[in-house]
Amino acid sequence: MKPAPFIRHVPKTLDEALKILADVAPQDGRVLAGGQSLVPIMAFRLAKPTHLVDINEVAGLDAIASDGKTLSIGACVRHAAFHRPVVDNPLGRLLVTVARHIAHYPIRMRGTFCGSLAHADPASEWCLTAATLDGTVVAKCTRGERLIAAKDFFEGLMATALAEDELLAEVRLPLLAKDAKFGFNEFNRRAGDSALAAALVTYRLQAGKIVDARVGVGGAESSPRRMREAEAALNGKPPGDAAFRAAAEAAASAIDPLEDHQTSAGYRRDLVRAVVRRALEYSA
Ligand SMILES: Cc1cc2nc3c(=O)[nH]c(=O)nc-3n(C[C@H](O)[C@H](O)[C@H](O)COP(=O)(O)OP(=O)(O)OC[C@H]3O[C@@H](n4cnc5c(N)ncnc54)[C@H](O)[C@@H]3O)c2cc1C
Repeated sequence: MKPAPFIRHVPKTLDEALKILADVAPQDGRVLAGGQSLVPIMAFRLAKPTHLVDINEVAGLDAIASDGKTLSIGACVRHAAFHRPVVDNPLGRLLVTVARHIAHYPIRMRGTFCGSLAHADPASEWCLTAATLDGTVVAKCTRGERLIAAKDFFEGLMATALAEDELLAEVRLPLLAKDAKFGFNEFNRRAGDSALAAALVTYRLQAGKIVDARVGVGGAESSPRRMREAEAALNGKPPGDAAFRAAAEAAASAIDPLEDHQTSAGYRRDLVRAVVRRALEYSA
């Protein structure tokens, strides 16, 4: 199908984009980034925005930068930018590992990191990454700028804390400790499909014991989140089968799984157990 008629605006500066968005947001105006989620939805007429604010020509939004503490990812940075490490830090390798699980190559060439967060699909690998690492979203509009912690940003199934006139200008991720270990695993029925469950883990070792454990789970609830129960099962334990199984069990017990016509809650709980254990095994 073809989308319903719309007017496309192509601002060249951020200020111009914010002004247009402020004008058109009340008329269901939307930001267009990579278009890899919005355009199919429009083609099926599940969304009929009357105005699109195309941010692809806005100067400076394609920047990736690091100040030595955080990695800043601009609104037009594509998934494919992470095919290679973007920073000399374990975070750079983590992002490479995660990126190759997102969709297919042509989609990764257009879709954006920030667009994934704004879209807030529960199965999004970047949403899981931001939630697990406690990233920060930089939201801008004509009224000013606000910083939103990832844990407050995701408000449910495809719902975020962004106001209708706010543009997600940038995401900031903290760099990892130099000796940080990480692991990622997801389960989907076919490569490139949305994950039915995914897990991202990071931790460090001190005197042979796990410290600073982070265990994030995505695809299983309406938003990705850190699983504190699983982290508690890891901290202070030596890495290995016993700790990894205990953490996986803790995550499976704590999850409140989404259900759909193909995936029962029980099956998803089993998947959470499996992806957390596999992510931890990958990390070791
Ligand atoms: C076949 C297929 C398979 C896919 N598989 C996966 C997958 O495995 N994992 C995955 O994570 N994704 C997957 N996707 C989605 C893809 O990653 C999208 O690129 C991503 O969800 C949205 O990014 P985008 O830049 O394309 O956003 P768009 O499609 O342009 O926008 C999506 C939504 O976010 C809003 N938005 C976008 N950018 C901003 C911004 N800067 N500020 C405010 N609002 C904004 C738009 O208004 C719109 O509502 C898949 C897509 C397809 C078509």
